[in-house]
Amino acid sequence: MSFSLAIVGRPNVGKSTLFNRLVGKRLALVDDQPGVTRDLREGAARLADLRFTVIDTAGLEDVTDDSLQGRMRRLTERAVDMADVCLFMIDARTGLTPTDLVFADILRKRSANVILAANKAEGSAADAGVIEAYNLGLGEPIRLSAEHGEGLNDLYTQLMPLADAFAEKARDDAPEVDVDVSDEDEDEDAMPVPTRAKPLQVAVVGRPNAGKSTLINQIVKEDRLLTGPEAGITRDAISLMTEWDNVPMRIFDTAGMRKKAKVQEKLEKLSVSDGLRAVKFAEVVVVLLDAEIPFEQQDLRIADLAEREGRAVVIAVNKWDVEENRQEKLKELKESFERLLPQLRGAPLITVSAKTGRGLDRLHQAIMRAYEMWNRRVTTAQLNRWLSGMMEAHPPPAPQGKRIKMKYMTQAKTRPPGFVVMCSHPDKLPESYSRYLVNGLRVDFDMPGTPIRLWMRGQS
Ligand code: GDP
Ligand code: GDP
Repeated sequence: MSFSLAIVGRPNVGKSTLFNRLVGKRLALVDDQPGVTRDLREGAARLADLRFTVIDTAGLEDVTDDSLQGRMRRLTERAVDMADVCLFMIDARTGLTPTDLVFADILRKRSANVILAANKAEGSAADAGVIEAYNLGLGEPIRLSAEHGEGLNDLYTQLMPLADAFAEKARDDAPEVDVDVSDEDEDEDAMPVPTRAKPLQVAVVGRPNAGKSTLINQIVKEDRLLTGPEAGITRDAISLMTEWDNVPMRIFDTAGMRKKAKVQEKLEKLSVSDGLRAVKFAEVVVVLLDAEIPFEQQDLRIADLAEREGRAVVIAVNKWDVEENRQEKLKELKESFERLLPQLRGAPLITVSAKTGRGLDRLHQAIMRAYEMWNRRVTTAQLNRWLSGMMEAHPPPAPQGKRIKMKYMTQAKTRPPGFVVMCSHPDKLPESYSRYLVNGLRVDFDMPGTPIRLWMRGQS
């Protein structure tokens, strides 16, 4: 039911202070627990109604400079691998240090769930440090004051959905859960950006009879089945490991649900909720449509969900082998796509035949490209140059005679790309201006079809 949270960060940022606050008097020390290094402390934590295990890497305070890097890295990696969620803490008063960057790098490579906290953030002396924290590319920092207990509700807000996800995972209690990221090898550094410590997670979703099973069988037949099928994350979504054109992939197949659904005569509803789970665990979602009956209600719902969950999306239109007027049909499909799924504008639409295998190479390319865009990182310098160009071309409005000033822009996260703009009166900025910026980002940084997040933040 419960999950574990590791607090990591360089010495003196306030990890122990937060640990003590979360654990209170219930400190259930763990130094002597077998298997756990003496440098890691564990405690039973409580935050409002959440109960979880918190792991602290506090043993680092007294390390000397030369041994710091290696020891710190090993210890942090161990904590990160042990924990479901990592809270990465920086000191907002001192701002980012090179050591913080080392930590950020470890987390980006090893942990799927990172919460970024800028600690010692009470008062305005911390403002600059909080803004700097966006540059780590680990999302929006929580403003925290471990000492004064401020920002704990923001921590709660970020932990809640994760707690739910882990609770669900535990309930489903599949024999083999999720992908383990505990690779010990260091050679992941050799991979080009984006670095992947685990197989690419792809979900194939679509209405019953769209051809999901046929497609997956075709992929596996042509390439290399590594393991599976096996019960995956949930009882209902089956996942298998394969290598498709030399790329290790874990493919979630939601077709297994069909039989059960039929029995229960709630076919539509159930296959949607099944698809939902696969979407949550996927990096790239392939929405498989039947060329004969494309873009039905159920298809639209799942595609929309994938976008809202921030997944990279590829639309594949199946059974193209039986299509006679291909040219015309394709035009029709593209029109429907733009009209019915404007939120996915620019996402690839690939025609395939799962039965004959035609179009699978293009599908593979589209998946890889969508994944690459989803991981795209734009430098702060590029963004700020771009932002001033955008403002020049089309200045932000001036509600009540006061022009909204945009001062600074940075990319806060990837997977999917998320950007933060620091501006005056963020609440007054019309939605249309945000859309203008998002569409501009898509075009100018070549990210068609990837979900893009944009946050307007005021400077306090
Ligand atoms: P650790 O080495 O990361 O575990 O850091 P500690 O928890 O030992 O804290 C290091 C120092 O920062 C201590 O002097 C704390 O009192 C101080 N500290 C921790 N949290 C805060 C905070 O929210 N605000 C301020 N101003 N100081 C803090
Ligand atoms: P699922 O429910 O999405 O897993 O769909 P299946 O893979 O079970 O396929 C449903 C039906 O569509 C089966 O009769 C398949 O043979 C057929 N089918 C799947 N892909 C294709 C295709 O590319 N072309 C044609 N003509 N039929 C297909």
